[in-house]
Amino acid sequence: MADGGDGVAAAGGRGPLKLAMWWDERVDFQAAFLQCLAKHVPNIYSSEMDPLLEKQEELVQVTIFYPLERCLFGEDPDICLEKLRQSGSSQLCGKVFKSGETTYSCRDCAIDPTCVLCIDCFQNSIHKNHRYKMHTSTGGGFCDCGDTEAWKAGPFCTKHEPGAASTTQENSECQLNEEVMAQARKVFPSVIQYIADMTIWKEEKELPPELMTSREKTDNYYCVLFNDEHHSYDHVIYSLQRALGCEFGEAQLHTTAIDKEGRRVVKAGPYASCQEAKEEIKRHSENVSQRPLHVEVLHADVVAHQKFALRLGSWLNKLMSYSSDFRQIFCQICLKEEADYENPCFISMLMLWDAKLHKGARKVLHELIFSSFFMEMEYKKLFAMEFVKYYKLLQKEYISDDHERNISVTALSVQMFTVPTLARHLIEEQNVITTITKTLLEVLPEYLDRNDKFNFQGYSQDKLSRVYAVICDLKYILISKPTVWTDRLKECFLEGFCSFLRILTCMQGMEEIKRQIGQHIEVDPDWEAAIAIQMQLKNILLMFQEWCACDEDLLLKAYKECHRAVMRCSTNSHSRAKTFFHLCGHTLEYRPYRVSVDSVSIHLPLSRTLAGLHVRLSKTGAISRLNEFVSPKEFQVELLIDYPLRCLSLVAQVAADMWRRNGLSLISQVFYYQDVKCREEMYDKDIIMLQIGASLMDPNNFLLMMLQRYELADAFRKIMPTKDQDLIKQCNTLIEEMLQVLIYVVGERYVPGVSDVSKEDVVMREIIHLLCIEPMAHSAIAKSLPENENNETGLENVIDKVAVFKKPGVSGHGVYELKDECLKEFNMFFYHYTKTQHSKAEHTQKKRRKQENRDEALPPPPPPEFSPAFSNVVKIMNCDVMMHILRTILQRVVELETHLWTEAMIQMVLHLLSLGLLEEKQQLGKAPEEEVTFDFYHKASRMGSSALNAVNIVMLLEKLKGIPQLEAQKDMINWILQTFDTVKRLREKSSFSTVTTISRSEATKGDETQSTQDKDKAERKRKAEAARLHRQKIMAQMSALQKNFIETHKLLYENTQEAQGREDSIMEEESIPIAIDHYRIALGPKRGPSVTEKEVLTCILCQEEQEVRLENTAMVLSACVQKSTALTQYRGKTLEDSDGTLDPLFMHPDLSCGTYTGSCGHVMHAACWQKYFEAIQLSFRQRLHVEQIFDLENGEYLCPLCKSLCNTVIPIVPLQTQKINSEDAEAIAQILSLARWLEIVMARISGYTANITKEEEPKNAPAVVSREKGDSALDFHSILSFGIQPLAKYSRSIKEMLVLFATTVYRVGLQVAPSESDPRIPVTTWSTCAFTIQCIENLLEDEGKPLLGALQNRQHSGLKALVQFAAAQRTTAPQSLIQKHLVRLLAVLLPDVKVEDTPSLLDIDMFHVLVGSVLAFPSLYWENAVDLQPSSISSSYNHLYLFHLVTMAHITQIILTSTTESSTAQSQDDSEEARTAEAFCKEVSQYTSGCFSQNTPGWHIWDCVKKGITPYLRCAALFFYYLLGVPPPEELLVVSDEGQFKALCSYLSLPTNLFLLYQEYWDTVNPLLQRWCADPAVLSYLNGKSIAIRYPRKRNNLIDLPEDYSCLLNQASQFRCPRSSDDEQKHPALCLFCGVMLCSQRACCQELVNGEELGACNFHALHCGAGVCMFLKIRECKVVLVESKTRGCFYPAPYLDEYGETDPGLKRGNPLHLCQERYRKLHLLWQQHCIIEEIARSQETNQIFFGFNWQML
Ligand SMILES: [Zn+2]
Ligand SMILES: [Zn+2]
Ligand SMILES: [Zn+2]
Ligand SMILES: [Zn+2]
Ligand SMILES: [Zn+2]
Ligand SMILES: [Zn+2]
Ligand SMILES: [Zn+2]
Repeated sequence: MADGGDGVAAAGGRGPLKLAMWWDERVDFQAAFLQCLAKHVPNIYSSEMDPLLEKQEELVQVTIFYPLERCLFGEDPDICLEKLRQSGSSQLCGKVFKSGETTYSCRDCAIDPTCVLCIDCFQNSIHKNHRYKMHTSTGGGFCDCGDTEAWKAGPFCTKHEPGAASTTQENSECQLNEEVMAQARKVFPSVIQYIADMTIWKEEKELPPELMTSREKTDNYYCVLFNDEHHSYDHVIYSLQRALGCEFGEAQLHTTAIDKEGRRVVKAGPYASCQEAKEEIKRHSENVSQRPLHVEVLHADVVAHQKFALRLGSWLNKLMSYSSDFRQIFCQICLKEEADYENPCFISMLMLWDAKLHKGARKVLHELIFSSFFMEMEYKKLFAMEFVKYYKLLQKEYISDDHERNISVTALSVQMFTVPTLARHLIEEQNVITTITKTLLEVLPEYLDRNDKFNFQGYSQDKLSRVYAVICDLKYILISKPTVWTDRLKECFLEGFCSFLRILTCMQGMEEIKRQIGQHIEVDPDWEAAIAIQMQLKNILLMFQEWCACDEDLLLKAYKECHRAVMRCSTNSHSRAKTFFHLCGHTLEYRPYRVSVDSVSIHLPLSRTLAGLHVRLSKTGAISRLNEFVSPKEFQVELLIDYPLRCLSLVAQVAADMWRRNGLSLISQVFYYQDVKCREEMYDKDIIMLQIGASLMDPNNFLLMMLQRYELADAFRKIMPTKDQDLIKQCNTLIEEMLQVLIYVVGERYVPGVSDVSKEDVVMREIIHLLCIEPMAHSAIAKSLPENENNETGLENVIDKVAVFKKPGVSGHGVYELKDECLKEFNMFFYHYTKTQHSKAEHTQKKRRKQENRDEALPPPPPPEFSPAFSNVVKIMNCDVMMHILRTILQRVVELETHLWTEAMIQMVLHLLSLGLLEEKQQLGKAPEEEVTFDFYHKASRMGSSALNAVNIVMLLEKLKGIPQLEAQKDMINWILQTFDTVKRLREKSSFSTVTTISRSEATKGDETQSTQDKDKAERKRKAEAARLHRQKIMAQMSALQKNFIETHKLLYENTQEAQGREDSIMEEESIPIAIDHYRIALGPKRGPSVTEKEVLTCILCQEEQEVRLENTAMVLSACVQKSTALTQYRGKTLEDSDGTLDPLFMHPDLSCGTYTGSCGHVMHAACWQKYFEAIQLSFRQRLHVEQIFDLENGEYLCPLCKSLCNTVIPIVPLQTQKINSEDAEAIAQILSLARWLEIVMARISGYTANITKEEEPKNAPAVVSREKGDSALDFHSILSFGIQPLAKYSRSIKEMLVLFATTVYRVGLQVAPSESDPRIPVTTWSTCAFTIQCIENLLEDEGKPLLGALQNRQHSGLKALVQFAAAQRTTAPQSLIQKHLVRLLAVLLPDVKVEDTPSLLDIDMFHVLVGSVLAFPSLYWENAVDLQPSSISSSYNHLYLFHLVTMAHITQIILTSTTESSTAQSQDDSEEARTAEAFCKEVSQYTSGCFSQNTPGWHIWDCVKKGITPYLRCAALFFYYLLGVPPPEELLVVSDEGQFKALCSYLSLPTNLFLLYQEYWDTVNPLLQRWCADPAVLSYLNGKSIAIRYPRKRNNLIDLPEDYSCLLNQASQFRCPRSSDDEQKHPALCLFCGVMLCSQRACCQELVNGEELGACNFHALHCGAGVCMFLKIRECKVVLVESKTRGCFYPAPYLDEYGETDPGLKRGNPLHLCQERYRKLHLLWQQHCIIEEIARSQETNQIFFGFNWQML
């Protein structure tokens, strides 16, 4: 031990060691410590402008920390700390979250949602397999792993479990020995004192005297700039640039540092100059709306000590993590109060200073608190007590602070208040509820008006949101309900409750409004703040009620207090004299008040709390003792219900459009009043209050009061006062609204306490009614249910009882469908339905019943029985006034006063009647007839008393059946009449019929004739209506289809249309009898005839048809040309043609970047398209403000039919039918061998060369070494002797289009300025032709589709047009140019042709050579400006020999590169192929000077060759098929590996044993083979000095993603930006092409490209996907598609939760799992080159584009 110590000390210098000893000996440690700091600190931190961080750190370690630690431990600190580290320390994880980190909570086990785990603990915990939630931290919280109070189960992860490997030794070794503890007690106070002193040090120029050194004070000052939340990033940069005259980069650096650390030295120098800089910065940062930035000029030594104080804080922080003893000692010192009590303890002092400190200092202090107090339960409690002691002060500081909540010490409240034992302790010992409410009462008064009610007009959003933090604390403290109630607890809680009532008192009736008449209000008042507070309070109110309900006495006392508070607020209309209202012999005495005239407020939290307490009284039975607490005389139920009634009446009047002059703010308030976010503590409680009223008041009086408050008293007297249509309409709406509320009062009983239902029943009923509207996604249901304080809806517990889950397809989401047995629960007038939901649900349910061939009556389900306390409510149904109301309305219908009633009104009347009948039926079922006093039936069948010729309700209903307007209600009326009968039978239980039945049948008879006529009329009308509806439906369907077609599946349309065309063509083919296999050969003399049908196409623009012919004007196909890396074997390599010299002739076999041509398959006249394009250009020029989603400059437009993004058109060139005369063919076959053909070709080429050389001697002219055979018969012209024909004549318009498309391909392919004469144009057209075929071949293989016959129609027509175009394009270029290209291509195959820069065999993609040489070959027939082309027979030989040559070269490529890998398979078949393969390899080996190993078994070589060459053969088959139109063998139309290979060989005139090719042509090929193999590049590869592509090429796939999304989050959390040390990663993005993780949307990783700043993703996309790329933004859980810097779109990530839904933004936070089908869809999107299309479509549909800066992604 000692040795080690001495060794380190010697290394570190003797000084520090001695110093440590010296400290040790002295008594006054503090003085010595400070002296040391005074000496070293200013020197170490001397250059703050430009600090050498590493040097600083080293010096601090040596001069201060080492001696300090040495002094603390008395031995080598490193060894000691290592011991401590190994022994582990705490069972609490305590990891502090950084902003953006993912946290996990468990819905099964967490005490509340604030209990979270860090990703490490989560991954090692049992909760991983529970119903967890993921969230993104805003920073500042910490991991609760190990806190037994936070979790119902599994509080420890495997790492923090007691007894786990890392914590076992705790008891044995971790205990610090006494000496160290003693030293700590001595050292810590001085350290803490210093930290505290310096962080809160306020002198700018002076240091504390103890830290002053003897040396003279220097004139070194710093100008220090502080962070605030008001100034934008850009504004600070601007101010700094102006004030300091610095560069943008420097200013940006400063600003970033300020944002992160909270302050930064921006200038150093003498006092005066710093002061000047300070003023400048202030001046530049100040403007009308903003305060200047906070700047200070500080002495250099002050800054140095402050800086070191924080460093010392981090040092302590580290120390804390080692030992519980250290933590305890630290906490003890921090809590120690001075004897004189004048100053608070250290920790409180720091808390109190918190809001004045800069961000960096706060962070260090908070971390210190986390690592000490919060890791030791006992001290956490003590800390919490200190916190509560200063709570009010701290909150006030926070409210006036300008920093965000997460860096305020007040944010720590959640860590303490949510711990159940701690919360109880704080309530009992410190009355924390009262403390919090009193704090609120002190910070809110600035919003009080003269009536002592809140009024938030003109409030500051920022400030108020700081007040919410206090409200939130109230929620935290109440979040866990105590299980044990002591008297002290009750007392303190009740005190808190009363204090809380005082806040509610200020809210009761706040923000009163008055109806605006005449003039519209000028400014919509602020309503958001009051509603927001209401939302914040909702669950707090519910929790208070729940707490009260824990104890009967408590509940009654709370009720009494609340009742008293309501009464105190309910006196404002007392001044008015009472008047009387008479109706049906009943009289109401009331004080006049009119909602439409007097002021009204929707904020009544006191009344609603009382209603909440009332149902709890009913539930617990405590209501029987209510009299002891509130005497009946005091109770005054009329007064209690008055305010809620006014509020409901207001809602009715708003619905009746009476308040339209009060503007939108009122509409919004009414919306929220009933919305799921507020309704529990607003609307629902008002209904309950009415139910309380109905249960306690005389029913007639209750209804009279309703009529009075709804201002409908006159409407139900016989006289209708007005003829004004508007007023009548108003009145009708008011009646509807009132009837609806009456239905709710009588029928809505699903509240625990109102009836005997459980919370689960309530949730179930909500869900049933939601699903009665339509099947819904899990998230949609969850959103429509109220959340409790733990953000739970209770949905999962019950959903399976009422609904079945239907899984989603490849798009869309899973939905729940209601179980059939739940349909009977449907109540059309469910009180949480909005108007739209109501009518939707009604429609759905009626439709369903119709489909089931049932009647359309939708009576209410029998409601549960009221609790005893509410049982009197039913009496309002059969009271006189109700009967009067119902009868009056029905009478108006029968009397045909059409303007006085509405169908909705009738529906409600019918509903009320049903409820009454159901109630009576139910009661009769339970008790003997004579005991049931509820006599609804009796009342309804009684005559009305008020009028002479009155009829009873039953008779009225009979008449109603004849009213045509009520056709839709007929079934319901019948149902009610039947139920009347049932009830009657139950009542009478005897056979004699009563007067009513007779009178009813009479009434029916009397009207019989009338009603038959009506019936006929009605029937006719119904039929006409049905027909109209049917028409409407069809129209709607059509337009929906059309829309769908355009938006999503535009292919469908083409498919049906063109597939038909295809079928026809296939039929034709089959009808040709000679179409036997013999003719299904594409190459050579046996070539089959091309099958072409007359092509008549319809222009999508003008709808006219035209046949495609050479001489006609051009038809074109909309197309999009794009760069593509879909096939790359070397991701990240891109071609850049910076100097315009890139040679695209030879495609490298890695296919790293090609040019893909795609088409949506839509045909236009060239002229029509041009007109269309010009029109778009014009319209865009005129509407400059419209965001241009496509780039007109570069020819972009949207396909007029399907809206795909296009950037050019392909001319449609008809295929020229060619037929071979078989006699000629045989004759030629005799003489034209490959050798001879080669000689002829060479002679032709050298002939041209000679001509050219004669003329101008251009450079690089191909020099052909003519063979020394000197066969004079083979002269320049002999090529023509095998058959020629005149060149096809293209119309001018086709030629123009050929040029246009070729130019686009050239421009996009090489990313250069357009040109019509660049020599590279023909090459790029061949290249896109070859590359597109390769892409499609690859895709077909990938999708497991057959090579031919399975192409999508767009692919088919695109490819056809592209190949024919590529063949025709030659004619628009100089033939000498084409020849030149051809010669260079041939030089690859024929090394005799000497051309410079010919790449070796291994550096070329052979398919590109094939396509290029086949398409260029006809140029050899050009002669003296006469353009001839080979005849069919000539070209069949040309194709055959070119193809055979290229194929042999490709086989050689494959053999050289892809057969070496030793195979493990044991298939030792000794086939002919194997033998020839082996023989061939021997030859190759010979030519490569033995570099090529010949040990590979023949069967393996053959296997490799066959696999390697298949993609090439498939591409060749596609190419020749589209070039020549020769029908392919059947085998290529189906998927079959073995059949395919044979069919390919036969179609392409190859022997199935490919090595026979070499045998056949051995003499000719042998020399070629030698030369291919002898190429230095080949040898270098074989010697292992370079690498080459292997065949078959690997297929590109999107990277593998983990099944569980949290693995990705884990990955993201470990990712660090490569450029900056900042460890906050807000936007990590994963490239799905290559798997690299990027730091997106951050300044650190931007790149400058061509003078433009590009974000990391965009920059990466340039290389990885040639500008088009796909990223997964991990924190947001969204896929991003990007294209060419400025364009992009979001796409749902392929991860689904268990409900089949995606979760963009991780808002819901459910566990997510990879959906392979969706990921596959993304893969296809990429491989089909549809990313650009997807982006364009998304931008088109989301026209409102919220300026996302794609460039910075
Ligand atoms: Zn943790
Ligand atoms: Zn843990
Ligand atoms: Zn769990
Ligand atoms: Zn047209
Ligand atoms: Zn289209
Ligand atoms: Zn990538
Ligand atoms: Zn970065």
